[in-house]
Amino acid sequence: MSFQTPDLSCLPQSVTVIDNQFSANGGGQSHGHIYPANGQVTAELQLANTGDVEGAVAAAQKAQSAWRATSGEQRRNLLLRLADLIERETKTLAMLDVIGNGVASMISAYTPVVAAQRFRYYAGWADKLRGQTLDAWNGPAHNYVNYEPFGVVGAIVPWNGPLFAAAMVLAPALAAGNCVVIKAPELAPYSVMRLGELFVEAGFPAGVVNTLAGGAEVGAAMVAHKGIDKIQFVGSGATAQKVLQSAATTLKPCGLELGGKSAVIVFADADLAEAGKRGLSGAMSVSGQGCVNGTRLLVERPIYDQYLATLKAIAEHIKIGDPLDPSTVMGPIISQASLQRIEGMIDRAQQSDARLLIGGGRLGGEYADGFYLPISIFADVDPSSEIAQREVFGPVLTVTPFDTEDQAIQLANDSDYGLGAYIHTKDLRRAHNVANQMQAGMVQVNASGEGMQPFAPFGGYKQSGFGRLGGEQGLLEFMQVKNVWINLDGYLTGALQQSLLTPAELREAALHFAVYGGWSRAAVLDRAITRVLQNLELTEEPFPPLGEATWEPEDRLSTGAKEFHHVMTFAGPPPATAYFQGGILNFVFGEMWHRPGLDQRSRRWVTLVGVADSSADSPIRTHIYGAMASGNASYQEMDEFVLQYAIHSGWPRASFVQGVVIEMAQKIKQGLTWDGKPKEDNNDE
Ligand code: NAD
Repeated sequence: MSFQTPDLSCLPQSVTVIDNQFSANGGGQSHGHIYPANGQVTAELQLANTGDVEGAVAAAQKAQSAWRATSGEQRRNLLLRLADLIERETKTLAMLDVIGNGVASMISAYTPVVAAQRFRYYAGWADKLRGQTLDAWNGPAHNYVNYEPFGVVGAIVPWNGPLFAAAMVLAPALAAGNCVVIKAPELAPYSVMRLGELFVEAGFPAGVVNTLAGGAEVGAAMVAHKGIDKIQFVGSGATAQKVLQSAATTLKPCGLELGGKSAVIVFADADLAEAGKRGLSGAMSVSGQGCVNGTRLLVERPIYDQYLATLKAIAEHIKIGDPLDPSTVMGPIISQASLQRIEGMIDRAQQSDARLLIGGGRLGGEYADGFYLPISIFADVDPSSEIAQREVFGPVLTVTPFDTEDQAIQLANDSDYGLGAYIHTKDLRRAHNVANQMQAGMVQVNASGEGMQPFAPFGGYKQSGFGRLGGEQGLLEFMQVKNVWINLDGYLTGALQQSLLTPAELREAALHFAVYGGWSRAAVLDRAITRVLQNLELTEEPFPPLGEATWEPEDRLSTGAKEFHHVMTFAGPPPATAYFQGGILNFVFGEMWHRPGLDQRSRRWVTLVGVADSSADSPIRTHIYGAMASGNASYQEMDEFVLQYAIHSGWPRASFVQGVVIEMAQKIKQGLTWDGKPKEDNNDE
């Protein structure tokens, strides 16, 4: 078998993209990128340096306010356009990852597809960002929460899946309105370099995305830079410690997606062939260099030997070799240094009680030029040994038997890491129970990788990191939370006392409450109004009591307050239903500003209709009919009533009521009763 030489004509030229300017050379050292399958240099790259970091951060800062001000629609469209370009370049981008880190082309073919999917998913969020309104229960206030971009996000991604990691970080960061400086990993820079160029082609404004191919020096400068507001780091725990130490000096928030040693629990009732296939494919993805690979197998004793035999048989048939050969499943390890580190771990495991079923040291012969290791499977592994506890980041699998469900759970959780956990069983109740007890950010049942979807949050427990990428949580990682409190006490009092505001403006206050806050807001306003009324002397005509409601004559409340409390009595004690609250609110405003006379009465009347009936439709018809037929409420007033309905009860209800108003108006015009009978036959409207 002879290995193919990759066609290097597709290599991207831009070591840096700063402010939408491409540059083939950064200010840093020369770095010969090596193709792991043959050990040959693919290109001498003059990497970025700290000076380039300065330029990139300055460009991002300059672009930030305008980018933040773009509409969600604009950001959505740009992200969608980028996704289209990624799809257009699927073959090239897949090839750039093959050349970059030696991943088998069979595997890398999917990466651009899932990267585009991420950008599309978060494009969908860009025009749906929203805040929250809180019930300020202890004061008349409008209290709300805004989610705002951090500003400039620094993204540092690893070599093992650079394009995918970049998409995981950049899609939510940009959708949220941040500008970005991203570092392409020096060991596999090409796909991210090309992505940087595609952002420009997609039409992203200058400075929004700045790409630097560089090494540790560039990453460290990004973390230390005051102009970067948040770091999202994807990489090893060892580097993450340095990142956190450095970030401490500027107190910079960091999201960390780190390594793992994910357990795979195979219960005796599992589909053995499926669990074997998934056990192996999940562990060997990208030659075992995947953060969330399930590399620590725990197998229930009754099937232990059979499962080992299944695993071994499958492993013997996995094709290792030329990444460019479409039938190759497993390519090389990333580098000579990595290979030696893994060999050291395999050697030490061999010296322990662990039993090597298959595999061992570096592959020679036709593989000798590349960094090739076979699949190694160790059985009877002591769960506390190095090979069972440390992330190998190579094609090495450990297998340990267990006897009970509790023991499986204990063994699975006996790890410093907590990225993924996999469970194979046909018992769904057990699946839920064990999933519930896993100390891991992602649990998959009878699956091996398909759970990493754009809509699903992904991230680690324990030393596998913190923060989440994916889903809504992934978006919120790139937004800061701002709470706003607007005191409305003086506003209301002043409005009533000094006529500083017009009735329409005061109505608007209520409208804000209801529109922005829904009913909890309106309830707050009720309380505010009660308080205000208690403190004011309003000179108004006494209002005749309604129904069975009463108030105490010695009550110090003003007429307006009495009316208000009267309706409260009518509506029922607080907490009244939202609908009642709506009626009350409407009533108070209607009464206070539109009196005296028919208008006022009809307004109160139609409001009470709403208060009295929130569900049955016929009474609403009769009341509306009555209000209009008697001349107590004009058509225009009823229209306004509908608007109030919308504010208080939401649009679906309002459109229903509007339909009733129109229907009743037609009935009146046609001389019919509310239920469509000739008027002379039925006078009980
Ligand atoms: P690494 O930590 O060596 O490097 C990651 C990135 O950090 C690289 O771009 C590197 O140049 C940069 N870097 C190095 N020193 C730095 C410093 N002092 N300051 C800032 N940046 C610095 O990791 P790696 O070997 O590239 O990747 C493998 C590791 O990444 C594994 O542990 C793997 O499990 C983990 N990983 C995690 C995820 C995840 O989503 N959880 C995904 C992929 C890989």
